[in-house]
Amino acid sequence: MPQNVPVFQFSENALKLRQFVYEHWCAEGRGPTLLEVHRATGLTRRQAQQAYKELQLGTIVVVDQDAMNASLIKCQPFSSFPSQVSAYVDGEFHSFAGCAMESVAFSKMPPFAGKEVRFESWCACCFEPITLVSKDLEYVSVEPEGVLIHVGLSPYEWNNVDIQRMCDSMNFVIDAEHAAAWESQTARRGVLYTLEQATEFVRSTAENRMHDYHWGVVPVMPEIIIDFAKALGVDVSAWEASRA
Ligand SMILES: [Zn+2]
Repeated sequence: MPQNVPVFQFSENALKLRQFVYEHWCAEGRGPTLLEVHRATGLTRRQAQQAYKELQLGTIVVVDQDAMNASLIKCQPFSSFPSQVSAYVDGEFHSFAGCAMESVAFSKMPPFAGKEVRFESWCACCFEPITLVSKDLEYVSVEPEGVLIHVGLSPYEWNNVDIQRMCDSMNFVIDAEHAAAWESQTARRGVLYTLEQATEFVRSTAENRMHDYHWGVVPVMPEIIIDFAKALGVDVSAWEASRA
């Protein structure tokens, strides 16, 4: 249960690896191989594996910890596999965002500063296309207007093993009606964030990630996450009972 993990300091190896993974993914649109990690950082296989484990405990990456080649599955805001959100930079496909919520923070990565990042996604319930353009953490255009992010998993279940199930539960929907249809389809209730609320929800991450080399561990703390969402005006009633 990697929730409420006591704050710890990332090692120098973990910081070096994190910085390289960010730089590589921004430049290449994909995560690095173990060979690329080794050449760029000088870390041995074992050092890289151990550093990845630290980064996963600190909720920076998801890596197959059993893989001798340190198979990198996610490094927020990026996904190694085809996700619900494709990101386009300079008019060309760049990478898959981790999920709808991670896509919100994407444009704040320093290499994308001043650039319009386009996201192609769809309404979770009906596959209607959704297109968003973001620049420096602000939306330039949103089509259709009023798109919401449905989060269909209580924070008490986030990161039980890793964050994949959490990210999978964060999807764009056209409006509240489409969200209700999605809830019926998945037999799962959730909460709705407006894009403004989502932007504030990820702001601290967006402003620190890759901007601060020493950015510290931010543990997954369910109670604080729910309180924060509530303070932003998100109706968290679907999560209240999960506190008991
Ligand atoms: Zn829909």
